[in-house]
Amino acid sequence: MTSPRPDPLQRLAAEQARRAHAQLRRRVRTVATGEGAQIVVDGRRLINFASNDYLGLARHPALVEALVRAAREDGVGAGAAHLLGGHRDEHARLEEALARWTGRERALLFSTGYMANLGAITALAGAGEPGARAEPLLCVQDKLNHASLLDGARLAGCTLKRYVHANVDSAARQLDTYPGDPALLATDGVFSMDGDVAPLAPLAALCRAQRAVLMVDDAHGLGVLGPDGAGSVAEAKLSQDEVPVLMGTLGKALGVSGAFVAGSAVLVDGLVQAARSFVYTTAMPPALAAATCTAIDAARFEGWRRDRLARLIAHFRHGAQARGIALLESRTPIQPVPVGDSTAALAASARLEAAGFYVPAIRPPTVPPGQARLRVTLSALHAEGDVERLLDALAAACA
Ligand SMILES: *Cc1c(COP(=O)(O)O)cnc(C)c1O
Repeated sequence: MTSPRPDPLQRLAAEQARRAHAQLRRRVRTVATGEGAQIVVDGRRLINFASNDYLGLARHPALVEALVRAAREDGVGAGAAHLLGGHRDEHARLEEALARWTGRERALLFSTGYMANLGAITALAGAGEPGARAEPLLCVQDKLNHASLLDGARLAGCTLKRYVHANVDSAARQLDTYPGDPALLATDGVFSMDGDVAPLAPLAALCRAQRAVLMVDDAHGLGVLGPDGAGSVAEAKLSQDEVPVLMGTLGKALGVSGAFVAGSAVLVDGLVQAARSFVYTTAMPPALAAATCTAIDAARFEGWRRDRLARLIAHFRHGAQARGIALLESRTPIQPVPVGDSTAALAASARLEAAGFYVPAIRPPTVPPGQARLRVTLSALHAEGDVERLLDALAAACA
């Protein structure tokens, strides 16, 4: 007699109960956009301190106009994958603009950052097609890397080794574990839940010495850091040889949606062949590509947005220090306020909401156990007064 087959849905329900009990249940809330930095949640206007629209481009009139004009001319959907007639002039223009901006030879569009990371790592691991045989790829990653980088390494069947956050010596020890295997070292450029910038120059030097390929996920650096907002890799002055695989997303500072991988023609052509999340999926709507071309111009040439953001970041950090609010070490728009316990983080978030601010609590497993936090993000849409009032509310909510 075998025991009765367990029901996966029942297991899911049991897991939900466990999460609810531990104050870890996730909940989707429907919101509406308001004026400027406002969002409307449950009928109440809140100042949004959770958006990744760092430069305030998502509602830029020129982007909206570009999207509408392209949709009128070309319709909404691409109608097919890039390889099967879905690759339009707008996509080609966007890839060229992204390559130029990031100082790379070529760039390849993906529909999301999640898919870009899965596609790039699986292709580099030689796991592009089922049954493909290649030497195992050693994939060395920062402990705090984004979930999509970890999932990429898992899906690709890599030997995954994680190193102590931002610790180059620890990364070196992990590379040494399999000195004879091909190796990829992957890191976020700016860490999404902590806001700090990876030690890119020393990591590049390590990779050069160890003949490993460096991949940087610059989802939160692009548009924000570096000359003309070209990102953390440009800020660190690292060439295509030093960072052969550069991934960026279009849904954060650029205010649209989608992602790209930039690098050599050899890399991009390899991804066209082997990145399954590129090959087997519909191309992003061409109107979004048109809007993103306009977003790149705004990000590059409306430098006042970055200046304003820098002033708001400085204001927030000084104000927090003056009020005795502890922050993490971050010079980017991501300014988390550590709370520790998940229940306390939820309570602080609820108090902020009652005071008119949307600042969600980030809990495990998104962050390590015991490191729940309020993830404050700043945007060029905020006014100094918004930041000042948030600081007062934070001091009260975390007291
Ligand atoms: C948001 C994010 C992604 C995923 O990008 P999407 O386009 O939202 O799928 C990947 N990496 C990092 C570091 C991110 O913050």
